[in-house]
Amino acid sequence: MSRKAVHVWLVGAGPGDPELLTLKAARVIARADVVVHDHLVAPEILARIPARARRIYAGKERDRHTMKQEEINRLLVRLARQGKRVVRLKGGDPFIFGRGGEEALALARAGIACEVIPGITAATGVAAAAGIPLTHRDLAQACVLVTGSRRTGAPDLDWKGLARPGQTIVVYMGLVGLERVSRELIAHGLAPRTPAAIIQQGTMKGQRVVEGTLAALPKLATQARLQAPTLIVIGKVVRLRRSLAQA
Ligand code: SAH
Repeated sequence: MSRKAVHVWLVGAGPGDPELLTLKAARVIARADVVVHDHLVAPEILARIPARARRIYAGKERDRHTMKQEEINRLLVRLARQGKRVVRLKGGDPFIFGRGGEEALALARAGIACEVIPGITAATGVAAAAGIPLTHRDLAQACVLVTGSRRTGAPDLDWKGLARPGQTIVVYMGLVGLERVSRELIAHGLAPRTPAAIIQQGTMKGQRVVEGTLAALPKLATQARLQAPTLIVIGKVVRLRRSLAQA
């Protein structure tokens, strides 16, 4: 089978700290003709885009969708057909809640080869920066990543499955729905005293961690007036933070 030349790279920029960009991502960005980027990409990473390259902001802050997903898909196809070296740069990892899968499918349907360059996703990057091991032999034998955002028409989360013991839950886009997440998990059997934390701007200068119990977290988060992006971690592993911080 002959391989088609790649015109589009779906690149993960990592969780925020510009040093968490991979070498491979840095190499591809430096050779781009056009970069279509998201809101969550650090300015230091955007500074690696060559001066001759075109930059297109595709947005996607909550409630401020600059470009619709279908428009982004069409744009990538159009640019690739012009023979440009297109870098689609996204926060974290392109295939974790980044809609990278939809973009890769749109490109595949158009017959355009694309290469995915993974990035450090918020779950691993932000938890590490906050001193929370997501798994631990005694406390969590599983870790599940979920979205707290409720897209109309999307099926609801499997609350019973999430409330299983021995599991760490990481909630992306969960600040607005935190009250509900907390209520449902408790209603489905998770102890109200389960340790939980919410991390604002993890790995970045504005990093803040608010820690408490699952029952108290929504109130604590409101009091702390947290700003996006925030990541929620729920499970006994959160308790290890304090012991690790003492080292
Ligand atoms: N593809 C990205 C996630 C995109 S969804 C990834 O793999 O990380 C955007 C959500 O990711 C945010 O709402 C937030 O929940 C989380 N997130 C991304 N970066 C973050 C950071 N530096 N600190 C806290 N949460 C972050």
